Amino acid sequence: MGHEFLETQSAFDANAGHDWCPFIPVFGAPAEMFERGEGTQLWSVSGKRYLDFLSGIAVVGLGHANPVIADAIADQARTLVHVSNFFANTTATKAAVAIADLMRDAGAGDGQVFFCNSGAEANEAAIKLSRKFGGRGRHVMVTAYGSFHGRTLGALALTGQPAKHEIFQPMPEGFRYCEFGDIASLEAQIDDTVSAVMLESIQGEGGVIPADAAYLQAVQSLCRERGVLLIIDEVQTGFCRTGKWFGFEHAGIQPDAVTFAKGMGNGMPVGALWARKDIASVLQPGDHGSTYSGTALATAAVNAVISEMKRLNAPELAVRQGARLSKGLSSISKIDHVRGSGLLLGAQLKDGIVAGDIYKDLLEAGLIVNAVNATTLRFAPPLTVSDAEIDEAVAMVKEVLK
Ligand SMILES: *Cc1c(COP(=O)(O)O)cnc(C)c1O
Repeated sequence: MGHEFLETQSAFDANAGHDWCPFIPVFGAPAEMFERGEGTQLWSVSGKRYLDFLSGIAVVGLGHANPVIADAIADQARTLVHVSNFFANTTATKAAVAIADLMRDAGAGDGQVFFCNSGAEANEAAIKLSRKFGGRGRHVMVTAYGSFHGRTLGALALTGQPAKHEIFQPMPEGFRYCEFGDIASLEAQIDDTVSAVMLESIQGEGGVIPADAAYLQAVQSLCRERGVLLIIDEVQTGFCRTGKWFGFEHAGIQPDAVTFAKGMGNGMPVGALWARKDIASVLQPGDHGSTYSGTALATAAVNAVISEMKRLNAPELAVRQGARLSKGLSSISKIDHVRGSGLLLGAQLKDGIVAGDIYKDLLEAGLIVNAVNATTLRFAPPLTVSDAEIDEAVAMVKEVLK
């Protein structure tokens, strides 16, 4: 078996019981093998062109191989990559200030930042923050059914999908769940053992289910009244995806802590926990860390993403292009409705249409989306998607759903 074989799709047939595959099969057989991207477009090893309306799951918000981000990463790689957290570096410092500024502008107040490498790690940091904040005996966190907070053991415990916990029992203790969107259900879970509530502003993996503003405001009031932290997981919704810098801004709330990842690095693995200053100070030297917290390389990508999103007025792009995509999809008779915000949209298919089948047909036609549940297609193209690309994608969906 030669090297060439490994660069083709058929290498993965191993995971379907043939031949040999280099990956531990946690992801199932991939649908395609890519080698190049540009903006909204991807090209497979066989040269087939795709329109990418998933952006690597809401990650590549500024498009594939964005030259501004690429230059920032390449320049930083030639300047300074990593020094450890015994020292500071100018790039991470600049990125932390930029995020603190964005959060202040979003109305959340003065805060501080901890950098990590993924959404799950950002949420792990949030678990430790809330446990130290509450203290032993008041360490319980409440999240919502249908939520997704990551795959590490703590983040999995936060994830309100009990079926996903079963094979890893015993799970860590101290996690409870409520019905998303139902304030009485949350209230029933809060007692004096609870330190924090964590919610997504739109449940992304859960099927693109937005929390309405009144619900999030009621959650905030309840948390304030009971002295419980309100933590918003903006891993998928942050960095302009929903038409504002952060999804919680649509509700006008002021969370105590917020987690980020996906869109903040445009594909560079990086995440962050932000916490308001009075909360952040419960964590002291030695309480948390990561070898790769705030590497100059990863945070160079963050700085470039933030400045490029500002230059493009990315929230406005998400609003405008999201409206065009939503209108196009809504005009298709076999789509019942489109929900979500900005460029994080879920198209609910009419009765009897299987999202997984439509996903496959769209892929065949050259459009990448995702069957986020049995009856919903998720659309999350780069925020830089053009009018023509949106029209092309909508035409493909219309044709496939005929
Ligand atoms: C993707 C996601 C995560 C997990 O992020 P990873 O980088 O995959 O660990 C956490 N929360 C939400 C809301 C997500 O969408």
